[in-house]
Amino acid sequence: MQIEDIRQRLRALGAKPVHVQRVLRDWVRLRAHDSGRRKSQDFLPLALRQELDRLDTELSTLTNMISSHPGVDGSARLLLGLRDGLTVETVLLPRDGVCISSQVGCAVGCQFCMTGREGLIRQVSSAEMVAQVVQARRLRKVKKVVFMGMGEPAHNLDNVLEAIDLLGSEGDIGHKSLVLSTVGDRRVFERLPNETVKPALALSLHTTKPALREQLLPRAPRLTPQELVDLGEHYARGSGYPIQYQWTLLDGVNDGQDELDGIVRLLKGKYALLNMIPYNTIPDLPFRRPSWDKARAIAAELHRQGILTKLRDSAGQDVDGGCGQLRARSAGAPSA
Ligand code: SF4
Repeated sequence: MQIEDIRQRLRALGAKPVHVQRVLRDWVRLRAHDSGRRKSQDFLPLALRQELDRLDTELSTLTNMISSHPGVDGSARLLLGLRDGLTVETVLLPRDGVCISSQVGCAVGCQFCMTGREGLIRQVSSAEMVAQVVQARRLRKVKKVVFMGMGEPAHNLDNVLEAIDLLGSEGDIGHKSLVLSTVGDRRVFERLPNETVKPALALSLHTTKPALREQLLPRAPRLTPQELVDLGEHYARGSGYPIQYQWTLLDGVNDGQDELDGIVRLLKGKYALLNMIPYNTIPDLPFRRPSWDKARAIAAELHRQGILTKLRDSAGQDVDGGCGQLRARSAGAPSA
């Protein structure tokens, strides 16, 4: 189910734009069962009220909680079931954030990612993305939504932008607190500036070396790190939000002095911040997590050279943290 399908169903029964807007707002703000809302519907045509009841049931069953795995850092990894029996991971982040999945599986095939191993299974619909936020709101407050879970949002861009539009217009989420994360795709940079709700952008950089990037992200669009940063800078200046560059720190792969020099060359003076996330080791994959001391020294060195760098841990990494591991485990695939 897409958000536009919901709009069309309601319009077909005579709902006015204001009613459609109200229904969607109540859903995403978790007010669908308020008694006040019920009263406010009394004047609607009977067929429309009956349809609203059916819709409430359908929306509340778009996702169902299979398991919840709290981490020591205040985060929690949720494994959510979809109507067709497939599953996605949603992560409750510390400080009122939620990280949602935009695809089941992923076609980019990043060498260090469990989700990338299974390829794309199917797109997540716009309503299913919003349903992940609603599910999170049943558990705690949500003030920030990050499209950084399973999947590459640029490969499901229509649905992602539809979900972002609803969350930013009716969902009580600030536009700057909606973060679209991508490995970099020209379509993202072409479309976002024209959207009413413009999200912040997180760009997965991971290395400053074009050949290594092609190796680590084998099916990402062929943009060099320099091209990616140029496109990112243009969006940052136009939107007024800094770009968040993501760098998964892989021991002995992208943590050498040559990469640090490359980062300074690429990002110095840019409207950007660099999130460095030490890799969460997965036993079946050939990458290792650098020590925390090494990661701290790298972040400090970059800071000293004028690069705004934040060292972060992957949320809930004590609970089979890397994206796709819960799902892989539940499907019986080899995992942590
Ligand atoms: Fe896809 Fe993200 Fe995993 Fe890369 S890291 S394979 S883009 S889910």
